[in-house]
Amino acid sequence: MKKKVKLIKIDLNKCMGCRACEVACAAFHSNPKYSSVNPTRSRIQVYRNELKNVFVPVKASFYTPAECSGRHTYIVDEKAQSDYRDGMSVCSFCGAACPSRDLFKEPDSGLPLKCDMCEDDPPLEEPMCVKWCLVDALTYEEREEEVEDEVKLEELEIGLESLIDKYGKDKVIDAISRMSQKR
Ligand code: SF4
Ligand code: SF4
Repeated sequence: MKKKVKLIKIDLNKCMGCRACEVACAAFHSNPKYSSVNPTRSRIQVYRNELKNVFVPVKASFYTPAECSGRHTYIVDEKAQSDYRDGMSVCSFCGAACPSRDLFKEPDSGLPLKCDMCEDDPPLEEPMCVKWCLVDALTYEEREEEVEDEVKLEELEIGLESLIDKYGKDKVIDAISRMSQKR
């Protein structure tokens, strides 16, 4: 099956760690839009290592209820990067919302965040992080690709899955049925 695939390309040689992409994403995804700028709400986080002059934007990718066991060293521009950010035990280059850290979780609810490519109605010309990356470290591309006809969890389902992990299925079903009776 052919499908339009949206991509954000990252040029690490151009990224200077200004975090404008984080601010733009957080503002766009606040409710109502642009009402606040809380970088923890951003679906892109910039790994910054000023001493080694390495900056790596990482997009929120998926929710996982389990911690992984991997702690790796990455080579970025031939410079080895440890797996820890600001001395904390977090996996700096991973886009997952997982139990071992607070990254990529909605700050008020704790629900997982995932990059939605700034889907909007009417659609944006390009995602907010790309628009506000003034040095073109992020560039947007659309192309037709052959993809497997797989069913992907939508954002709502991902949120429900994490609520079920947190509170249990029965409580979530109870809450939904109580809410639907009130409407
Ligand atoms: S806005 Fe661009 S240059 Fe600034 S941190 Fe984000 S990707 Fe890097
Ligand atoms: S594409 Fe949109 S949602 Fe995804 S990281 Fe960029 S600004 Fe955030």
